[in-house]
Order: sequence, then structure tokens, then C-alpha cells
Amino acid sequence: MQKERPADVVGFYCGLTSTMERIWQLAKFYYERGIITIAGGWHAHYCPEETLNHHIDIVVHGDGEIAIQQILTVFKDVKPFNNIAGISFLDGTQVKTNSTNTISNMLEVDLDDLPFSDFGLLKYIKEIKVYPIGRIRGCRMNCEFCSVKGKPRWANSQRLFETVNLLVETRKAKSFFIVDDRLEEDREGTIEFFRLISEKYGNCLSFTVQSRLEASKDDELLDVMKAAGVGTVCIGYESPDKLDLKAMRKGYHQLSDIINWTEKWHQKGFRIHQMLIFGYPPKEKGESSSVKKMIKSFKTLIRATHPESLQVLHAVPLVGTDLRQRLEKERRLFPLEVVPWSKYDGNYICFLPDNMTLEEAQEIPMMLMNRFYDPMGWSRIVLRTIVFPVDYILRGWQKWHHGWYGDVVKYGGHLLITRWQRRQKIPDFLEKLKQYEAR
Ligand code: SF4
Repeated sequence: MQKERPADVVGFYCGLTSTMERIWQLAKFYYERGIITIAGGWHAHYCPEETLNHHIDIVVHGDGEIAIQQILTVFKDVKPFNNIAGISFLDGTQVKTNSTNTISNMLEVDLDDLPFSDFGLLKYIKEIKVYPIGRIRGCRMNCEFCSVKGKPRWANSQRLFETVNLLVETRKAKSFFIVDDRLEEDREGTIEFFRLISEKYGNCLSFTVQSRLEASKDDELLDVMKAAGVGTVCIGYESPDKLDLKAMRKGYHQLSDIINWTEKWHQKGFRIHQMLIFGYPPKEKGESSSVKKMIKSFKTLIRATHPESLQVLHAVPLVGTDLRQRLEKERRLFPLEVVPWSKYDGNYICFLPDNMTLEEAQEIPMMLMNRFYDPMGWSRIVLRTIVFPVDYILRGWQKWHHGWYGDVVKYGGHLLITRWQRRQKIPDFLEKLKQYEAR
């Protein structure tokens, strides 16, 4: 890429902890060629020293849109950049941070002032089928494991509507993923946005969104979402276990509520992508249920809520979260030499488990997903296709398509998981953990 389109300055997004080692590799490549390297995102914000010691010249705290303009201006005018607010850099071997590096006083842009994203700048734009768009940053909830911080703020709904119009007109976009963590954070704005969409496009466009489970109590919101073409809702259920949910500060803990709210999403015709965390560390030692009981409660939840797709991950103690602080205090975190950042993607255990062996903790989430993503799904796809004419007459297109789509997702998920498992060296990983535990 550097040969094809040489860069003078390179920016790295460090919001995903599991990508840090790869970022360091790439940063080294550019740094050694005298190219300015800039990093932003939560990981770099919380670990400026580590980031700056891996071939990054400048760490930007807070919204990068302000700092990047100033950095590029001083770079162009060949001036020192150390007067720019909200950045960290190395002064000799010392990390120097220019003000505004805490959550409460980080630099914030007015989101209505930002230019529209220019997807045309992306090299592989033709391969994009689903366009990521959004207008909300921050979250007012306070889940223990979550790295989304800061008082929520948003651009107005008209702006997001114009973003969609632009993408439809210039790129013939049809499918969108709204990246906002909780689209109901600004309920009125969200209702207004979907109303504008349905007035102009009916339900010809398709949207995937992220929401809290209990948002299904809001009929007006769900109706307007459905009318505008929202098909799939990604929901962090996290766990069926009361103690897990309390430790997470999830804000609800009754299984009956979870089932009722799910029912509502389904009744309104939404598909649910369910996200769960297995093996969450309890607040008090010995407080968690037995491993058998936990597996059973997860299976019961999945059966009772019958999501269309499922993700079961490990708890990830990301930097900057209260969960990481708690595990650090309890001295349960594996050191980075044993579990490096690249394993912080939810598929590996990063701390000593409670009430279960290392093998159980590592393997149960995948076992639950393997059970859900059925290898025999392909036979049901064939069967449903054969009986389509009869099923269409008897039950109608909607019901036939719902079942057929579910089987395609389940079989596709099975293929993905199998491929992932083949590539990973889980026994080697577990061996390393055992050696560490035995020290
Ligand atoms: S998990 Fe979701 S609801 Fe909880 S703090 Fe994060 S974004 Fe907010």
C-alpha cells in the first residue's frame, strides 16, 4: 500500500484491544520510514505509554476530529506539535500529556458539525454491502465490563437521514448497520429518524441496529423501526444468571423479564442476535453456581428466547473498565506474556476462572455455540427449498422465509465456527495457562 499510495502521516484506530499487536507491527513499518504515526481509541487513551513505546508518535485522547486537524496543520507548517491539547507524546523517555486526558474533560466535537463520511476513499468500497453509520457516542448505563464511557451525546436525526440519502444516491446503498451502542439513548431522535426513513423509502432499505433488551417495552419505537425496515436487533443479554447480571451492573436480573421482553421483539417481527458472556467472575469468591448449573441456565435461556443468531464469549477485562480493576486487585489476571492483547477478543480466557477448570472455562462458550449452530442445518435448507411451493400456499412467504433464513444462518455459523476452531491452537494455549497456574 505504501508503494501504491505513499503516506506522510498514518492514523491507527486502537479501539479494539485485540488488534494492538498488529497495530504495533504496522506502526513499526511506517515509523522506520520516517512517517508520522498517530493513534486514537480507548486502548491508546488508557495505555498511552505502552502505545508510544511501540512506534507511535502521538496518542490522541477524546474525539480525534479536532486534534487531527491541528496535528496535520503543524505537520504541514513544520512546527512542533507539543502545544496541541488532548494529545500524549514522548518527551525523551517521559510521556507528556497535554491536558484533557480524563473522560470528563476530554475534547468533544459537536457531532452535527462533522462532515459526511466519504466511503469513496476506501480502497475496497465495492465490497461493502452493509454501510456502517451512526450518530450517538457514549452510553448512560454503567456496565462493569464495558469500555463505552462518557456522557452520551448525538447528532440530530436529520443528519443521519441525510447520510442515508447520500449513500443511497451516490452508492446505491440498501443495507445499513447503525453502530450506536444503544439507539434508544436518544429515543425522540431515533423515532424521528425512522419516521423520515419510512416516509421516503417505506421499508425498502434494511437496517441492523443495537439496542438494550428492555427497549421492547416501547411500542411506538418498535413500530416505527419495523416500518422503516429494521430487520435484526443485536442485544447484549449477557447472562441468565442473577449474580452475573448484578456483578455486571446490567440493570435487570429477572429471567422472566428477559423472556417477556424477548417475546415482544419477536412478536413485532424482529430477528434477534443474542450476545452472551459465559463465566463472568462473581463479586464474592465462591458465590457463583456450579458449572453444571451454569451450563443448564444458559441452555434454558437460549431455548426460551430462541434467538436467530447467537454469540457466546468470555468476559474480557478491557483496559479502562471496572472489571479489569477488580480482577487486578484480586490478582486473577493472566499476565500479558501468557495472554497477550491479541487474545482479548472474547474467545479466550484472560483471568483465572471461578468454580471451574481452565478447560471448562475455555471450552464451554464454544460448546454452547456449536450446539446452536447445527451441522445438520444444510439438510433442513434442502428440505425447506423442496417443500417451498406447498409451504408457501399453506403458511405464506413470511413464515417460510423466516424458517429458511434461520437454517441458513445456523449452517453458515457452523461453517464459520468450524473454520475458526481448525485455525486456533487451543490445546497449546491451555498448556501455557496450566504452566502459569502451576508456578
Ligand atoms: S454494555 Fe451496552 S448498555 Fe452497558 S455500558 Fe456498554 S454500551 Fe452501555
